[in-house]
Parts: sequence; C-alpha cells; structure tokens
Amino acid sequence: MADHSTAERRARLDGLGGRRFDVIVVGGGITGCGIAREAALRGLSVALLEKNDFAAGTSSRSSRLIHGGVRYLEHGHLRLVFEASAERRRLLHLAPHLVQALEFTWPVYRGARVPLWKLAAGLTLYDALALFRNVGRHRRLSADAILHEQPGLRRDGLVGGATYYDANTDDARLTLAVAVDARERGAVMVNHARVSKLVTEGVRAAGVEVVDELYGETTQVSARVIVNATGPWSDAFRHLEGATSTPKLRGSKGVHIAVPRGRVGNHGALTLLSPDDGRVMFVLPAGTHTIIGTTDTFTSVTPDEIRASEADVGYLLAAANNFFPGANLERGDVISAWAGIRPLAATASEDSVAASREHAIAVTPAGVVTITGGKLTTFRVMAAETVRVALRQLGRSAPPSRSESSPLAWNISNSRETVIEVATRETGDAVLANHLVGSYGSAWPSAWRTIESEPYGSEPIDPALPYRLGEMRYACRSEMACTLADLLIRRTHIAFETRNHGRSIARTVALHVAPVLGWTAAAIATEIERYEVEIDRMFTIDRA
Ligand SMILES: Cc1cc2nc3c(=O)[nH]c(=O)nc-3n(C[C@H](O)[C@H](O)[C@H](O)COP(=O)(O)OP(=O)(O)OC[C@H]3O[C@@H](n4cnc5c(N)ncnc54)[C@H](O)[C@@H]3O)c2cc1C
Repeated sequence: MADHSTAERRARLDGLGGRRFDVIVVGGGITGCGIAREAALRGLSVALLEKNDFAAGTSSRSSRLIHGGVRYLEHGHLRLVFEASAERRRLLHLAPHLVQALEFTWPVYRGARVPLWKLAAGLTLYDALALFRNVGRHRRLSADAILHEQPGLRRDGLVGGATYYDANTDDARLTLAVAVDARERGAVMVNHARVSKLVTEGVRAAGVEVVDELYGETTQVSARVIVNATGPWSDAFRHLEGATSTPKLRGSKGVHIAVPRGRVGNHGALTLLSPDDGRVMFVLPAGTHTIIGTTDTFTSVTPDEIRASEADVGYLLAAANNFFPGANLERGDVISAWAGIRPLAATASEDSVAASREHAIAVTPAGVVTITGGKLTTFRVMAAETVRVALRQLGRSAPPSRSESSPLAWNISNSRETVIEVATRETGDAVLANHLVGSYGSAWPSAWRTIESEPYGSEPIDPALPYRLGEMRYACRSEMACTLADLLIRRTHIAFETRNHGRSIARTVALHVAPVLGWTAAAIATEIERYEVEIDRMFTIDRA
C-alpha cells in the first residue's frame, strides 16, 4: 500500500483549488524557494509551484559555491561582491551542514592576464568587501610555497600566487533545505506542478492554472500576486501573459565535468585562468570526484534541452591538463558532463563573462512580479526585495524580514565535527556519518533510523559511493521526492557521480521505493523509462 507521501502531495495540490493565496510563486529553483520562505516568514499565505522538481533547473547545475565572486571584481561589480560576501558569512551560520568554508589556491604564471600585483590588490579588495570578516584573509605565496601546497601543478613559468577563502555547498540540497524551511513556515510547496496558464480578471493576473505533471489533472489557483521566478524560463513564462516585447533575459551556458578524484592531482580547490581565453575557471573537490568548470557562452537553446558539447568538454580538459601536466586527462576520464543556463538579466553587453550577475525585479502590466538574474549565494537578498515588491502590490505592510537570522531547515547547532563524531559512534562508519550529517544536518538520526530499520535499507547503492538504499525511502517520505530523477539527480548526486548516470541501479531503487510511492509493476517500468529520458537529456554530450 502507498505510504503517506503520494497521498499527502495530492492533498496539497487538491487543497490549492479552494484557496486564495496572497502570493503564488512559479518556479522552485533557489530563487523561487527563497521567495516562498521569505513570504511565509513575513506572514503571507504563499504557494509555490514547480513544474519539475525543486532545483531541477540551473539550481542543480552551478559550481556549488557560496562565494563573494572574486572574478566579478575585474568587471567592477563591487556592490554584488559586497552583498554576496555578506550572504556567504550569513549562510555559513544559517546552514553550517550545507555551507562550508573552502580554501582556494590561485597560482600565477608568467604573462598571465592577472599578474601577481593585480591578484594581491584584488584579493585585498575582496577581503575588504567582506569587511575582513571572511573565515580567513588571503595569503600571498611564493612559487615554492604554491608547489608545496599543489605539487601536481606545472612548475614552468610559475611565479607565485595566493590562497583565499570562499565556501562550497550542495546546490540541490541547499535549494531543498530552503523549500522544506518554507514548508515548515507555512508555505504550500508543490513539485511536478506546471503552471500552464495565467488566469486574469480584466487585465490583472488573478491566478494560474496548474497541471499535475505526475497524474495529469488540472487545478486553478487564485492569488493576489503572482511571482515569476522561473529563472532561464522567465521569458517563456512572460509569453503566458501574452508578452511580445523584447526578451528580458539572456541565457549564458555553463558546463562542468566530473572526473575521478585523484586523477587531476589537485589538493583542494584552485582558481585558474583558462589558457585559451584567460577566463576564470575552478577545479573543485566534490566527494569522490573533482569538478572542473565552467564555460560561459551566450546560448539560445531552451533550458529544457541544454547540455554539454564535445567542444565544451575539450576546453575544460585542455585547461586542466595545461595546469596539471601529469594528469593527462582524456575524454575517457570524464564521468559526467552537464550544462546549466545562467539566467542573466538582458543588457547591452556582448560579453557573457562581463555581463552582470545582479538581479532585476520588474512588474509587468498584468501585475506579475518577475525576478531575473542573481546567484545561488544571494538568494536571500533577492527574496527579501521581491517580497517587498509583492507587499507593495498587495498594498500591505508586514513585520520586518527575519530571514537574515532564521536558520535554515536541518541547521545543526553544534560544530559539524562534533555532530559527525556523534554520528560515527552511532553508525560505526565514519564515511557514512560524514555523508549523513553533510546531507541531512540535524535530521541525520531520522535518515539513519530509516537506513537501519527498513528491509535492505543499509545496502550500499553503489560500492564506490556513500549512499544507502534506505535513504531513498527517507527522501520520498520526508523530502518530497516523487520520481527516480528526484532521487538520483537531486536528493543524491548519483547521476553525476556514475558513468552510466545511475542507469544500472535505477531498477533496484525503483523497486525499493515502490511501496512508498504506490508504484505498480507497470508504473515502475514507466518510471525507469522516464528516468532514462531525463538523464539522456541532461548528460548526453552533443557532438557539435
Ligand atoms: C554553470 C553555472 C555555475 C554557477 N555557479 C554558481 C555558484 O557557484 N554560485 C552561485 O552563487 N551561483 C552560481 N550560478 C548561478 C545560480 O546557479 C543561478 O543564479 C540560480 O541557480 C538560478 O536559480 P533560479 O531559481 O532563478 O533558476 P532555476 O534554478 O533554473 O529555477 C527555475 C525553475 O522554474 C521552473 N519552471 C519553469 N517554468 C515553469 C512553469 N511554467 N511552471 C512551474 N515551474 C516552472 C523550472 O523547472 C526551474 O526549476 C551558476 C550558474 C551556472 C549556470
């Protein structure tokens, strides 16, 4: 018999029909989830509708950094760096299990576009824009000291460098934590619910029509204010309003690749300048993998179909090999390659790298509040501003924003190390403990109980990865996961971390969660087919 999760989601959707919300947010990326959380925190009634899963768009395809954005300094976007640095500091406190300080090494080579003196000046400014309250200040290093920290780096031409601090995260799980937090504060959060139509009263938007993407039913939901937080889809959404004006958004494609950890030879994170075009790139540690990224090119491909090309992959491999000559990375080393679209606010800039990452909020003639641009890092500030605009539309005042000091769901109050120590004692497995605390934060004991108590719950899903089968049922019951893609791409990152993108374990996982989600044998077969379509769409590498 189906567990409560499917029935509870249906009830949530059915319940929307009879209500009039203050705000409907369309889009469950970090931007939309942040807005739903902020609106709920300020006492508004709010529903969020996401056509796929939380973070299924750009918010699961980022570089996974919570950062001031050192490269924006070059383009003079100081306000953004200042704002993002403050948010980095806050998120380190509000979600310490998901956001952790990360030290970067930046090596400088003779003739580099950013010479040593400029790097030192830039990083001093970076520290200053963080009001010298980052986890640590930058340090200048000699060539020998750089090689001591990163022995795999090319020696030839190395003149020195520096280290500095940013933070990393799990983008999809951060978005989920914001979504769950919004739900706990009263927002109605529904994934796999596509807004297909805008309902108007006269010329004003008064609601939306929403299609249940899992069961095909349609519901009308009323609201006083509609927020378009569909990121790279925001121009497509504007067409639902009949908008024919010039696009407000310019998409920039960014590709990352994952290779096995240890193949590159990096120790920790590095910031590098591409030998091809001098762009800033990152080499990042990510569990059992190293991630190399990213490209940055304007694109007109729809966000539903965006993927990496062989040219993108070649560009990233060549850059890594240039700096780590011993790596000799080849195409066969690439475990996965994926692309996302930066939803940049359209400007006159012809250069996607220089285009501002700042956000823009506009109110359309129908009264829809549209937010474009921004970053994962600045979601809270973007949400606070958007809700201020929504309140103006509502003609209401509300208590001041509390999001700055309200911890996110699953926040841990002790240090991460202390919590991992406790989890290690409980589970008897340090690797598993690290994974459970890093993924579930203070909810790790609940995830662990499911692993322990469900039949086959403690079976590893893949011998090389820390995930256990029991987590899949936990995610369906407690984290709003409804499909294999939700489980294998976003609740875990198995699709990014295995060469077949989770294809070989899809059946096992489907059988395990079937009783929770109420899947029959036919539903399991359909679900596996749907999963294959989704991973083909996301991970196939285009030849062009
Ligand atoms: C390669 C790359 C690297 C990046 N790295 C970083 C980084 O390290 N740090 C950082 O701070 N930022 C980074 N960013 C930027 C950051 O990822 C994005 O700004 C952010 O994720 C955008 O979130 P969003 O919610 O606006 O859009 P999305 O995450 O794309 O969410 C939009 C959502 O709207 C939904 N939707 C669309 N149409 C409908 C509809 N009709 N009905 C219902 N739902 C709908 C979609 O399914 C989607 O889930 C990076 C971006 C890219 C591309």
